[in-house]
Amino acid sequence: MPEPAPLFVSDLHLDPGRPEFFAQFEALLARYEGRYGALYLLGDLFEFWIGDDFPNPMADATAELLSRLSSRGTPIYFMAGNRDFLLGEDYARRCGMTLLEDPTVIDLNGRPVLLTHGDELCTDDLPYQQFRAQVRQPEWITYFLSRSLEERLAMAREAREASQAHTSGASGEIMDVNQDAVEALMTRHGVAHMIHGHTHRPETHHFELNGAPAQRLVLGDWYEQSHIHVALGLELEAFGGRAA
Ligand code: MN
Repeated sequence: MPEPAPLFVSDLHLDPGRPEFFAQFEALLARYEGRYGALYLLGDLFEFWIGDDFPNPMADATAELLSRLSSRGTPIYFMAGNRDFLLGEDYARRCGMTLLEDPTVIDLNGRPVLLTHGDELCTDDLPYQQFRAQVRQPEWITYFLSRSLEERLAMAREAREASQAHTSGASGEIMDVNQDAVEALMTRHGVAHMIHGHTHRPETHHFELNGAPAQRLVLGDWYEQSHIHVALGLELEAFGGRAA
C-alpha cells in the first residue's frame, strides 16, 4: 500500500478582514479529511504577519483548526511565503506544525520533489528581489520584531502599499518565475519535480531538464481560482473545484 499522498496548499492569504477565506480553508480540510497523509502549507498562509505576538483572531482560529488536525495524527509542515516570513516557532508550536526551510526537498514515494514558495524564482523582478534580500537579513528581522506593534503595523502597511503600487505597474512576465532560475535551482538540488505557489498561476509545466523530463507544479490561490492541488501516488495531479 502506498502512503496516502500529501495535500499541498499555498497562498491562502488568510486575513481578519476576509473571514470567508478561513471558512473555505476549513471546508477544504474537511473535504479532504482522511485522504492525505500530511499537509504542506507552502507560504502566504496569512495576508500579513508582523510577529507571533500580534493579537489576531484569525491566527487564533487557524491555530485551533491546525492543532486539531495535527493532534489527530496529520503532520503539518509550513514554509514561509513573502507575506508571512516572520511567522516563528511560537506560532508554529501553537498549530502543531513544523517549519520548513525554503527550499526543501521531500521524498514523494521514492521521488525527490523540491518545495519552494516561489518568490525567490521571480528573478526578473529586481526591485522585489532587493526588498527581499533586505528584509530576510537576521539583523533586519531582529530590528523589526523589536519595534512596538503599532510601529510594526505601520511599517507593514507601508510595505504592502509599496508592493501593490509596484505589482500593478510591473508586467505579468516580470511577476512570473524565471525559467533559468527554476532550472538552476532544480539542477542544484538534483530534482526533476518542483512544487511552488506565489504566482497564483496554477499549472503543471512539463519541460526538459538536463536531457530528462521535468515537471513544475504551480499551486493556485485556490479560493479565487478554484484550484487546489494534491499529489497522488507517483503522479502529481491537479484537481479543480472550489472547496465549498
Ligand atoms: Mn507569495
